[in-house]
Amino acid sequence: MATVEWRSPASEMAVKQFEAAAERLDLDKNVAARLKRPDRALIVSVPARMDDGSVHVFTGYRVQHNDVLGPFKGGIRYHPDVNLGEVSALAMWMTWKCSLAGLPLGGGKGGIACDPKKLSRRELQDMTRRYTAEILNFIGPDVDVPAPDMGTNEQVMAWIMDTYSQHRGFAVPGVVTGKPVAIGGTLGRREATGRGVVYTIVEAAKHLGLALEKSTAVVQGFGNVGLIAAQELARLGVKIAAVSDSSAALCRDNGLALDEVIAYKEKNGELEGFPNADKIAGQSLLELPCDILIPAANEMQITGENAGRTQCRIMAEGANGPTTPEADAILRQKEVFVIPDILANAGGVIVSYFEWVQDLQNFFWTEEDVNNKLRAILTRAFHEVLGLSRKEKVDMRMAALMLGISRVARAMLWRGLYA
Ligand code: NAD
Repeated sequence: MATVEWRSPASEMAVKQFEAAAERLDLDKNVAARLKRPDRALIVSVPARMDDGSVHVFTGYRVQHNDVLGPFKGGIRYHPDVNLGEVSALAMWMTWKCSLAGLPLGGGKGGIACDPKKLSRRELQDMTRRYTAEILNFIGPDVDVPAPDMGTNEQVMAWIMDTYSQHRGFAVPGVVTGKPVAIGGTLGRREATGRGVVYTIVEAAKHLGLALEKSTAVVQGFGNVGLIAAQELARLGVKIAAVSDSSAALCRDNGLALDEVIAYKEKNGELEGFPNADKIAGQSLLELPCDILIPAANEMQITGENAGRTQCRIMAEGANGPTTPEADAILRQKEVFVIPDILANAGGVIVSYFEWVQDLQNFFWTEEDVNNKLRAILTRAFHEVLGLSRKEKVDMRMAALMLGISRVARAMLWRGLYA
């Protein structure tokens, strides 16, 4: 971004994407200068007592990129590589994602640099509650509403909700989304992102004339997004040829027995050791021949170095920022149909929006309602992006960014600069 504080490979990539779209849109220069940087970035120290009695001080972040359309919204990530630049990039992508889906929400993101797998349940809870206390005055149902991301889940959201509520003196379910249903979560949120990825793949396959029941898919990352996406694709008759997590990459020519893989992952917490598959190197999984490739792990996995070796027809970005601008240029040449992150994985924030609405109204919907409304929003967004990409002769990412950014810019111009 413009200043060094939030500079990192991820934020430079997010800004590069923004600048290309801003140029194509001929965006007002003053608006563009403002949108390159976040509204607010917090860095907090999070002391937590470890099981051995010592106190470890973790570093936590919350970045609020833009709230011109509504309260900030975005996940909280627990991962050793979390840093201010990465969180800033993710917050910026959230702004475009909410805008593209037509949600009355802005972009935010947060995280703690930690390895959640190495923390006991008690340590994780203490760290989460102290982090919540540190950012307490900057979040809230009208201000900024966190959600799960890599390394966090509904239990972490429940602890955040409880800590916030204890401080306010009454239950405030609308402070986070992705909570358990028992405390104001919505049906369908856990599955929403993976399910949404598949809704967009279905539209892409129709557009390209690809028969899904004869297709194969490869999925990188077997967590909330990747596992559900694989499961939903398998339901549609797609053969899942390979999957990976941070412990192992598995493949099988005739397709993996997905139910067995899921049961193994649930029992053992990782894919390593699964017996009925061939083991391959994690990075080579991205280069396997397939119809559909779903990166659903972390950023910058498909780069200028390996993009030329990918062999897919559709790439659906379950992860945020998995493809670098250099890789994008190569994929364009190879005529890979890329469903960009801010469209493909928007299902998570769309159903988070539904959860927030239900909490504010104290009126809860059926899962069928949730899924139908999710599908309607994503299908409309997909066709808006496809329509613009054909009209302007740009790729799907550029079209998605142009739509997301232009709506934010229009709102900023209406609201004006408070001075
Ligand atoms: P998760 O923590 O549930 O799962 C992440 C998975 O990726 C794990 O299986 C992990 O082992 C695996 N992984 C990590 N590094 C890997 C590597 N180098 N190679 C292969 N696998 C690796 O996280 P998640 O919620 O599924 O998030 C995954 C991605 O989707 C992230 O980019 C996140 O920002 C994005 N996303 C998540 C949501 C959501 O609702 N959870 C919404 C939108 C986007």
